[in-house]
Amino acid sequence: MSNFVWCHGPSCHKSHTQDRIRGVKGSKVLRTKKVAQTPYNSGERLSMYSYFCSQGCYNDFAHKYVREVIAIAPRTEALETPIEVTKEPYTNSWSGQTHMETRIRTVDNNGG
Ligand SMILES: [Zn+2]
Repeated sequence: MSNFVWCHGPSCHKSHTQDRIRGVKGSKVLRTKKVAQTPYNSGERLSMYSYFCSQGCYNDFAHKYVREVIAIAPRTEALETPIEVTKEPYTNSWSGQTHMETRIRTVDNNGG
């Protein structure tokens, strides 16, 4: 595994798993895991899995650094998506019964 980054989970090196054990008898350690950089998690597929070995390590990082993460793109007002709400009959293909169903459609106000 020559192309890798160390997992960014702040507690990755504290998880008691066999694949983190390094060293020789008498001086063993739990070491941060490597995250292989592959075509599946790099380039256009760059994602959280490019930097974290697991969902748990990602969550640990997000919880520890939530203030810094939010500071990147703070939300100071609500966003809204224009929609159109209609009631339409829907027939269940299994039971054959028809009932009214609420449909929500996004409205594109930009001439699309
Ligand atoms: Zn990790």
